[in-house]
Parts: sequence; structure tokens; C-alpha cells
Amino acid sequence: MAGPIHWDRVKFIPDYDSKGWWEATKRREYVVNQCNKCGNKWFPPLPACNRCQSTDVGWFKTQGKGFIYSYVVVVQPIFAHFVDAVPYVVAVIELPDANNPGHYATRIAAVLRDDEDKVAIGLPVEVDWEETPDPEIVIPFWKVSGTADNTWKFPG
Ligand SMILES: [Zn+2]
Repeated sequence: MAGPIHWDRVKFIPDYDSKGWWEATKRREYVVNQCNKCGNKWFPPLPACNRCQSTDVGWFKTQGKGFIYSYVVVVQPIFAHFVDAVPYVVAVIELPDANNPGHYATRIAAVLRDDEDKVAIGLPVEVDWEETPDPEIVIPFWKVSGTADNTWKFPG
């Protein structure tokens, strides 16, 4: 990430579905939705289970660890608060402890603290927290946390 993110240029407004997620980030916990009926897990927050359609939805506290499933490098700042941060990496991160055996993986999208030269598909990552001027809003970033034997990078 080239420069700072200007958190004063954005206002996060938790809604009914994401309120619990923002409460968890304030506690430095990375959570995903979990169906209280069938155990299915998913992200981003939604009002009903996409496997059994139950609206009895809760939260699953992950370990805040995963691996890079894929990534892109953002070079054009779409949001005003990111104008000095480009280029930065947005990764699709798989969370093994939140996977749904026999069904599908739980993956999230997140901004990485690491620059492109440090990033590769397959590398382990862990969550890292950043406070904002709004004491109710703590942002999860992710960072590379180790090495892996079988990694792949976009050429260039
Ligand atoms: Zn369900």
C-alpha cells in the first residue's frame, strides 16, 4: 500500500445484517455468518442461510487466519479515501476454519497490507486491525503471515 487511507473521507453505517460483524471487529474478532439450523457458514452477512433458507442466523468466530485464494492489484482509486493508497492488493481469502465440509469454502475479500511483490496465491495470511477516527469502526486488514511450498503469482 503506497500511502495512507483517509478514513475521514468515508462513513461506515452498519445495517441490520452487518451490525454484528462490525461489533465483532470492534472486539478484534473476525466473524462470518453461521446458520443456527444447519451450521452453514458464509460471508458477506446476509439475512438467511443460502443452504436451508433459515433466517435463524448467528455468528462464527474464525481464527482470523487463511490463505490467498486469488488477488488483484488496484491501481485506480475508486473511493476517495483510497486515493493515496494505490496501488494496493485486494485478495480473496479462504478461511479453512469456516469452511463447509462437503459443500463449499468460505471466502472473503479484503485489502492486504502487503504490496504486490510480497503476495502470491497460496500464501498464508492473518487478520490485522486498524482503528478509524470513528471509535465504533475498526477495519480488518490482512497481512502475509508465512510461506508456502506451492504458490503462484500473476506474471509481470
Ligand atoms: Zn442453514
